[in-house]
Amino acid sequence: MEPIRTTTREERQSLLEAAGYNLFAVPAEAILIDLLTDSGTAAMSTAQWAAVMRGDESYAGSPSFTRFRESVQAIFGFRHVIPTHQGRAAERILFTVMCKRGDVVPNNAHFDTTRANCEFAGAEAVDLPVPEAAQPALVHPFKGNMDVAGLERLIAEAGPARVPLVMLTITNNSGGGQPVSMENIRAVRAVCGKHGIPLYLDACRFAENAHFIRLREPGYANRPARQIAREMFSHADGCTMSAKKDGMANIGGFLCTNDDALAQQEKNLLILTEGFPTYGGLSGRDLEAIAVGLNEALEEDYLNYRIASTAYLGNHIARAGVPIVQPPGGHAIYIDARAFLPHLPIEQFPGVALAIELYLEGGIRSCEIGTLMLGRHAKMDLVRLAIPRRVYTQSHIDYVVEIILGVFAHREGIRGVELTYEAPFLRHFTARFRRLEAP
Ligand SMILES: *Cc1c(COP(=O)(O)O)cnc(C)c1O
Repeated sequence: MEPIRTTTREERQSLLEAAGYNLFAVPAEAILIDLLTDSGTAAMSTAQWAAVMRGDESYAGSPSFTRFRESVQAIFGFRHVIPTHQGRAAERILFTVMCKRGDVVPNNAHFDTTRANCEFAGAEAVDLPVPEAAQPALVHPFKGNMDVAGLERLIAEAGPARVPLVMLTITNNSGGGQPVSMENIRAVRAVCGKHGIPLYLDACRFAENAHFIRLREPGYANRPARQIAREMFSHADGCTMSAKKDGMANIGGFLCTNDDALAQQEKNLLILTEGFPTYGGLSGRDLEAIAVGLNEALEEDYLNYRIASTAYLGNHIARAGVPIVQPPGGHAIYIDARAFLPHLPIEQFPGVALAIELYLEGGIRSCEIGTLMLGRHAKMDLVRLAIPRRVYTQSHIDYVVEIILGVFAHREGIRGVELTYEAPFLRHFTARFRRLEAP
């Protein structure tokens, strides 16, 4: 448990100015409710803390690694499990080993770090979401699905030799936390199989995706999430994972594959920058926390609470007219900033402008997923309210609802912003802004 501190509007205004209006640069002590991300922000359980105490810090062959590998294999089922310090390290190793200049990597929607690592390896990252994903207000059970006909077309145009792998992000983070159906995973697998292309899952929120399949896909209503997860992974050749999401841990990740030759190359690269293959940049106690957390993420009571509490926030603001990506996602609610601030042109970053206003009004930190984060790839300007796992109560969320509705009531007066600094990669983390004059 930790205290949360209230600030005055004046304090928040000067903190914003000092931060160049970038919420990543505001100190966490000056945030009342932190919905910046669900990554690494989970409250660990008593069972996880107990496991941390038996962490074995041997450099090689630690029993903590054995418990970690057994836990991952029991759920994911892949032959090789390579620990990394977080998801992006797994991505960098995967793309370095599998991609070369001129390659094309299709995904339902690349996450920011996935796209950046793919492009850094010289490949082109192509998003192939279903058309429904581009309509925020449209309710559809599996808006995270990949456009299978689009995948066929892309492979035909590029030639299968230029497509080293296909990825599916479950759930789709940049497109609203929306799930991918088992039917879609099977259909993508069939296309990959026909062309001899491996399928990898970006599995960060595999448990939430499995839960949505149980709730929404015919034939899965009575199956435990663990069994559904096993089936999802049975259609793939490997995965990347950030344990900071459905691993319920504060740090960690891993890369899995069934390919012996690839695993060897991946472990060689791992040793170069992450560490020996039985720890991969993590301490033994981190491996223990993940081994327990992956199982907790699949518990039915937890998943019911998780999905219902995210929907609670979404439904309360949507009922009052706030435009959100429908239906509510698994780990976050995404406000449609273009519809919320129709007076702001896209060049004035409506998502950034709204995120600034939520902080100014109530000390709430959110995250833009739009023109700033995704550049020309942005089809929407969204403000993500990510819900940390097992952290906030309903009364905290009621406060968030109240602040959002307050901002919604005076939305016509919200000003746009202009970039004053941007980095060449992943610019949203360090960008700085100037606020424009009132519209
Ligand atoms: C968080 C995330 C990643 C990257 O993981 P990190 O642990 O932050 O490096 C990759 N893909 C998706 C979908 C994510 O949500």
